[in-house]
Amino acid sequence: MWTLVLNCGSSSVKFALLDVQGGQVRLSGLAERLGSAGASVRLEVDGARRTADLGGGSYAEAFAVLAGTLEEMGVRASVSAVGHRVVHGGERFSAPALITPEVLEEVRACVPLAPLHNPANIAGIEAARLAFPGAAHVAVFDTAFHQSMPEAAFRYAVPEDWYRQHGVRRYGFHGTSHAFVAGRAAQLLGRPAAELNLVTAHLGNGCSVCAVQGGRSVDTSMGLTPLEGLVMGTRSGDVDPGLHDFIARQAGLSLSEVTAALNRGSGLLGLSGLSNDMRELEEAAGRGHVGARLALEVFVHRLAKQMAGMAAAMGRVDGLVFTGGIGENSAFVRRAVLARLGVLGAQVDDAANAAAVRGQGGVISPPGALAALVVNTNEELMIAQQTQALLAEQAGVSA
Ligand code: ADP
Repeated sequence: MWTLVLNCGSSSVKFALLDVQGGQVRLSGLAERLGSAGASVRLEVDGARRTADLGGGSYAEAFAVLAGTLEEMGVRASVSAVGHRVVHGGERFSAPALITPEVLEEVRACVPLAPLHNPANIAGIEAARLAFPGAAHVAVFDTAFHQSMPEAAFRYAVPEDWYRQHGVRRYGFHGTSHAFVAGRAAQLLGRPAAELNLVTAHLGNGCSVCAVQGGRSVDTSMGLTPLEGLVMGTRSGDVDPGLHDFIARQAGLSLSEVTAALNRGSGLLGLSGLSNDMRELEEAAGRGHVGARLALEVFVHRLAKQMAGMAAAMGRVDGLVFTGGIGENSAFVRRAVLARLGVLGAQVDDAANAAAVRGQGGVISPPGALAALVVNTNEELMIAQQTQALLAEQAGVSA
């Protein structure tokens, strides 16, 4: 069953056409620089690459190229479902939702919580419904998986009004990825997900960890926004909340300039003064670059602390799972983190760890130690599966 998956950002659309059962991908691609004269789209159709200019570069133009390509492939009529990645579903959505005018209004109500992401997601949904009017459109939320967190994990110790009136609480993100890799890890360990307590670490440009107990999120490192928690490519992760006021006064910055610096000029980039890219930093550290070494040390230090904290959120831990570009490829980061997590009984099998790169996942711990695994995330497949599962459930209900 072919499902189209769309991930609409403010100036880009990532898309894939995949088969939910086999995971086969027939079409994938990225439309970039939307809204500018240089807008273009890259596609891979049955393994063959091509590019096209997008004129004015609106979502509508990107979807027209996509629809034309699906037509040419002879599959347009059989695309009956479109799964949309939506960043913030607030407290309203703890599962995927069939997109109706009411659901779209509720996604709109979450805009203050994700002012950069939700408006782009909504604009993408509106354009896609016009381009694919015959299909069922489903929203799959980054935050939904974490709605199972207990209040002790999701509340901040701030005035209650802030929560009740403004929704100030921890929501968490990367939910689709954490859910997917936790499920895969259970399969790899040959145990039912319901019996397992896992700590999952999604380490890409954005990074977060999650405590997954019996297949449900019970704590995670990101909070109200995706800025909380780990050191990331350009994001600071946790800082003292007193920092904003201090640096605003000392450096003469406005609140929005401080926020922008914490989002875009901090993290690995800020620490190293060199790059936000882990691969580049590992190479530079190898050549003795002082800033790159420091960035790696802080990244690992904070990651290990957060993973140990997630173990404490569950009381017992059965496995540590690494995913995302860094988690799937950096043997260095995994080794350094697992060495610190010896406190939980973690050890690393060096040969298995070195072999787990570029799509090769699997167990990287020796027998008898706490299980550590590398699992390749596949958010597109998870969105497609959740889209089809919701539609099957609704068809069952109405039958
Ligand atoms: P995004 O969050 O944008 O999807 P990715 O999941 O692709 O990002 O992760 C990007 C990160 O993965 C970058 O920091 C990149 O350097 C890192 N990465 C990719 N390959 C390697 C590698 N072989 N070794 C170390 N880091 C890697």
